[in-house]
Amino acid sequence: MAGPTNEYSAKGYAATSPDSGMAPFSFNRRGLRPNDVLIDITHCGICHSDLHTARNDWGRTIYPAVPGHEIVGTVSAVGDEANLHKIGDRVAIGCMVDACMECDHCEAGLEQYCKNGMTGTYNGKDRQDESITFGGYSDRIVCREDFVLKVPEALSSDMAAPLLCAGITTYSPLRQWNIGEGSKVAVAGLGGLGHMGVKLAAAMGAHVTVLSRSEDKRADAKALGAQDFLITTDKDAMRSAAGRFDMVLNTIPVRHDVAPYLHLLKIDGVQVIVGMIDKMPELHSGILLGRKILTGSGIGGLAETQEMLDFCARHGIVPEIETIRMDTINEAYDRMEASDVKYRFVIDMATLG
Ligand code: NAP
Ligand code: ZN
Repeated sequence: MAGPTNEYSAKGYAATSPDSGMAPFSFNRRGLRPNDVLIDITHCGICHSDLHTARNDWGRTIYPAVPGHEIVGTVSAVGDEANLHKIGDRVAIGCMVDACMECDHCEAGLEQYCKNGMTGTYNGKDRQDESITFGGYSDRIVCREDFVLKVPEALSSDMAAPLLCAGITTYSPLRQWNIGEGSKVAVAGLGGLGHMGVKLAAAMGAHVTVLSRSEDKRADAKALGAQDFLITTDKDAMRSAAGRFDMVLNTIPVRHDVAPYLHLLKIDGVQVIVGMIDKMPELHSGILLGRKILTGSGIGGLAETQEMLDFCARHGIVPEIETIRMDTINEAYDRMEASDVKYRFVIDMATLG
């Protein structure tokens, strides 16, 4: 078996401390292992998890941190034994770049729940050399070929990028809980994940309601495919919606009381938490006695992510994006924190310069 090739020099943007902001950063990507591919990145979406990581919201960021896990690009080299992708293919990487592939979760196609821990695209630890992984705010990346997805012809690269996290993270629970024709789904928080949740649930045939703090998003919610819109600070409106939904898909990115959202569920309805809100406030168990289900969901497996990309291509589902230059990333983070994104930023990597 041939050894790895020489390392590749790479340019990117990194945070060096919780309050450093993002700045240019030069580093090396590993040489190709036999089953790796090298990808020239053309686009990378900006997820709220990038911001959580850059600012160490979860207390486990390793600096320097290069975020970015909504990656699209073109294969520019392949390892000796790599045969899933060829030079010139348009491909994508989401939130993970490796897993053990041997545990029963991996064998069931649930690599994101690998019992030995999946390797995150950034801030993860490489399974072979233990180096810390760097994400997609960068001109190129080396990745195990099995963790590289194929971008369908019908999806442009900028539009495909947000699907790799915002798309799959909402698609997976909708599928898991059998959302379909006639299901009543409420999406809490109309941001990057939320707006994909609305589009995907509507495409699956659900009746969709948006739960938001932002009155100015009412018209957008309708345009995205929602039939209804509730302002979560309006206690009367929330009370009148009690017992109405099969699912609440909760994308809110800060610590908050989830009880008001449980009240909205029918018997056997489910609230799926996908926001990374760290500790949850106390919950009175009595609420659950109405046979309400409270659960969570993390991204999706490899096959399911490919299925989601193909579903989006088939149904013409694409995110609403605002393309930005790499050097405006700090303003983009400030706007994301202020919920002023309609509805996903995508970095045009040609502007990395
Ligand atoms: P985002 O684009 O910033 O959207 C979040 C939305 O939540 C905002 O647009 C806002 O919608 C609402 N919101 C924001 N602050 C709020 C507050 N203080 N109280 C109530 N609502 C608030 O974020 P995103 O990229 O969609 O990510 C959402 C969360 O999912 C993040 O925590 C992220 O880390 C997490 N995530 C999890 C996974 C997973 O695998 N589970 C994957 C990706 C991301 P309104 O204006 O409509 O209120
Ligand atoms: Zn993400």
